[in-house]
Amino acid sequence: MIEEKLKEVSIAEYNKQKVIKLVEDEEKNKLVSDLINYPHAFVLACAMDRQITAERAWSIPYQIKQILGTFSIEKLYNVSLEEYKKIFHENKLHRFNDDMAKVFYSTVHKIVEEYNGDASNIWNDNPSSATVVSRFLDFDGMGIKISTMATNLLSRDFKIPLSDYYSIDISPDAHVKRVFKRMGLIKEKDIQNIDKIVYKARSINPEFPGILDLTCWKLGKNTCRPKNPKCNSCIFEAECPKIIDNDI
Ligand code: SF4
Repeated sequence: MIEEKLKEVSIAEYNKQKVIKLVEDEEKNKLVSDLINYPHAFVLACAMDRQITAERAWSIPYQIKQILGTFSIEKLYNVSLEEYKKIFHENKLHRFNDDMAKVFYSTVHKIVEEYNGDASNIWNDNPSSATVVSRFLDFDGMGIKISTMATNLLSRDFKIPLSDYYSIDISPDAHVKRVFKRMGLIKEKDIQNIDKIVYKARSINPEFPGILDLTCWKLGKNTCRPKNPKCNSCIFEAECPKIIDNDI
């Protein structure tokens, strides 16, 4: 059955995930994946991840580090909102430079004022997945999609221990939607219905619905492409009903 196979492949994928690659460029990746020295870089990158490519969003902390000559939380805290707006505009860091400068500024301030300057206090007390998602949701402009993605990354890529994984949902982007529809996990008419996809993932693996995310995303990006899906070489070929008509 396709649900069982998807769960099995996703769990294997989760267990083998070793190399942390949040952004292609090595130096940029080093900063946003350094949870020991710069845990705020990870949080700030998550906060930037909207309405632009992930590659561009996750590069912003590194670009600001280059401009300021440091990425210490103390230094970031001393930069005014006006200075951040100038930095964002002059360097065209984001599609919405004013708004995202504000988000950057308020994220830094929240980390210093509520987490004692150490962003790892968001996740380092063995919290439940709901607690971590809820802590991310408390940041300015962080919606459920980003908060869930951040919690999923912490668990999946960084192996941060959480007391449960129930509240880490799947994040349905175009790849995940297409794969769910082609696998017959949702009806064609529901392809844009996020709730249907989220609840279907919950029904497949209630203990950790978001574990399906990476497998579906990779499959959609590399194999189950919008045009000419490579069904012959797909790991799900035998179980998949291949509902490919009228596709996205
Ligand atoms: S068998 Fe084909 S349609 Fe089904 S998931 Fe694989 S590539 Fe997509």
